[in-house]
Amino acid sequence: MYQRIMKRAKELEADAAGFLSKLVRTPSFSGKEKDVVSLIQQKMTDLHFDDVRIDPLGNVIGRIGNGPRVIAFDAHVDTVYPGDTNQWTFDPFDGSIVDGYVRGRGSVDQKGGMASMVYAAQIIKELNLNRDFTILFTGTVMEEDCDGLCWQYLVQEENIRPEVVVVTEPTNLNIYRGQRGRMEIEVRMNGVSCHGSAPERGDNAIYKISRIALEIEKLHDALKTDEFLGKGSVAVTQVFSNSPSQCAVPDAAWIRLDRRLTHGETKETALAEIREAALRAGYSDVDIRLLQYNEPAYTGLRYTTEKYYPTWVLEEPSPYLQQAVSAYHNVFNRQPLVDKWTFSTNGVSISGMFGIPVVGMGPGNEIYAHAVNEAAPVDHLSKAAAFYAGFVRSLQENQRS
Ligand SMILES: [Zn+2]
Repeated sequence: MYQRIMKRAKELEADAAGFLSKLVRTPSFSGKEKDVVSLIQQKMTDLHFDDVRIDPLGNVIGRIGNGPRVIAFDAHVDTVYPGDTNQWTFDPFDGSIVDGYVRGRGSVDQKGGMASMVYAAQIIKELNLNRDFTILFTGTVMEEDCDGLCWQYLVQEENIRPEVVVVTEPTNLNIYRGQRGRMEIEVRMNGVSCHGSAPERGDNAIYKISRIALEIEKLHDALKTDEFLGKGSVAVTQVFSNSPSQCAVPDAAWIRLDRRLTHGETKETALAEIREAALRAGYSDVDIRLLQYNEPAYTGLRYTTEKYYPTWVLEEPSPYLQQAVSAYHNVFNRQPLVDKWTFSTNGVSISGMFGIPVVGMGPGNEIYAHAVNEAAPVDHLSKAAAFYAGFVRSLQENQRS
């Protein structure tokens, strides 16, 4: 069966590359995914998915099968901007296929995963691998701006709760099982304004926030390391202040932090550490807050959330990891590299918030994500599709035994 899957995937490879090319030619920056979602909806309809719909946030949800077990494959369909197009050696939006690569913005991150997924669905249907399953194929929005928001919507508003989700972000066809989480935090101190010619009359908020910033620099060095995910980190990334004039002592100053969370670090522990850093600087009256995301989707809906993106890891004994590894072995006749993502994915909500196991596997090399001359190997598309179908087969076999 695994050989039939691989053979069929190879036969569909040119179709998948052609579809990826079309996806690349349809720009879909975060919050502007309407056209690409329509294109995917049409493709799913053409491929005879059992159901295709678009939810109020704008995610496209294709379904095949009606079985009792619910599983999902996810690809976010938004991309980042191309940046300075003069640095590209080709047009980022022509979707050309050259020397075995589909080229352009989003080809790797991560429209390639989308193309592989829909053709995996065709293989699963043709080979009747989904008798026990309801399989959802989600093309999700706004991931680049607010990773996981789309899946907060799917779980909390659409009541979709699969037993496992395959995230199809680029892994260079390796199997990934975790990532560091992150938070965006603001730390604010108030002062008392006065004339800048007599600063002793006031209380300078910039001096206060600066002492805290230096304590945060020290906090970074003290953060712990995890064997698999690496070290947590914190960096002051922006500084702001408010003053009535250039000749006045500022009455407020605040900094923003990029906090990366390793295994075992949570929102609560990270915020407590900042409070302690402020105390070491001499301040107990510090205002610490998590920033919020409140941008509208292309549908107009705002689905507000905190900018807290929890760490997640699929632990090694997980049966889903074992079945992914065995599917990989059956499809490719070799052992996969099992690793982690450097960047963030929708796994932050799917697994980090909701505890749904996530397996990562996708076409393209993540070094091209957000980079110039982004391009995905055509053969990765059929291989990823074969793995997805093989994973379903592996889950089904496991159930029977
Ligand atoms: Zn991505």
